[in-house]
Amino acid sequence: MKPASFDYARPQSLSDALKLLAIHRDNAKIIAGGQSLVPMMNFRISRPELLIDINKIPDLDYHECSSDGHYLKIGALTRHETLRNSALIAQYCPLMHKAYQHVAHVVVRNRGTLCGNLAHADPASEMPAVMLALDATMVIRSNQGERKVQAEDFFKGLYSTDIKSDEILVEVQIPILDASFRFGFAELSPRKGDYASTLVAVMLKLINGKIESAALSYAGISDRPVRAPAAEKALLGQEPSSDLFQKVSAIVVQEIYLKKEDLESHVFQADLIQTLTPRALLNAIASHDQ
Ligand SMILES: Cc1cc2nc3c(=O)[nH]c(=O)nc-3n(C[C@H](O)[C@H](O)[C@H](O)COP(=O)(O)OP(=O)(O)OC[C@H]3O[C@@H](n4cnc5c(N)ncnc54)[C@H](O)[C@@H]3O)c2cc1C
Repeated sequence: MKPASFDYARPQSLSDALKLLAIHRDNAKIIAGGQSLVPMMNFRISRPELLIDINKIPDLDYHECSSDGHYLKIGALTRHETLRNSALIAQYCPLMHKAYQHVAHVVVRNRGTLCGNLAHADPASEMPAVMLALDATMVIRSNQGERKVQAEDFFKGLYSTDIKSDEILVEVQIPILDASFRFGFAELSPRKGDYASTLVAVMLKLINGKIESAALSYAGISDRPVRAPAAEKALLGQEPSSDLFQKVSAIVVQEIYLKKEDLESHVFQADLIQTLTPRALLNAIASHDQ
């Protein structure tokens, strides 16, 4: 199918883009890499009257450490492929580096942006779960100014975020964690480069061989990425072991699925959680030994 007709604007500055958004609001859409928006327009799931192309706006394509060295800053036009191949990301955000091995195909990654991916909020996407595990901050701008939203408040539901119709996600800020943190990732997808059936992103802090803090973040099992707080709590103060990781995986299934009415229809996903959670946790511990 072809998209419904639309007007097209290519502002040369962020302030011009924000002015256009302030006027057209729900009738306009930002286009970054177009890798999710264009298919949705072709299927007429999305029918914007105006496309605001941000690709000519300078200074939005960057990824760097903040001046205080506490976090990574990633701009709105930074492509997946740049981040996937970045030595800076591999060093300072190993969880993102691991997860990027599962994201899409090179042609998609060459155009698709991290911020577009997060704004699109596909519930089976890798990076939203990674941002949730790492407590990332979204920097959002409108004509009225700038605000910051934590990842846990950013993802609101199926393809839905906290970004308002007159706002642009201009930057993602990801904490740089010290050497006591370990990261693991595991995913099952129908084919390499497809969205996940289920995935888990893991962050563990190990002090003297014991787990001092933990994040288990899942995608593909709800309308948005979710953490598993009861399972995370069960890891605290424990020494990592296969037995512990099996027990914790069972807790994840309980806390995510006990609330749901029909557990039977979720048996496959429950099995995936039971398989992928220990795998990601062991992956985190193995990265400790490397
Ligand atoms: C064949 C194929 C396979 C894929 N496989 C995967 C996969 O395995 N895993 C995965 O995670 N993704 C996958 N994707 C999606 C890919 O990651 C997209 O690039 C990404 O979801 C959207 O980024 P984009 O820059 O292309 O955004 P666009 O398509 O340009 O925009 C997507 C949405 O976000 C909004 N938007 C974009 N940028 C901003 C901004 N800065 N501020 C506010 N709103 C904004 C747009 O208005 C639109 O609603 C796949 C896509 C394709 C076509």
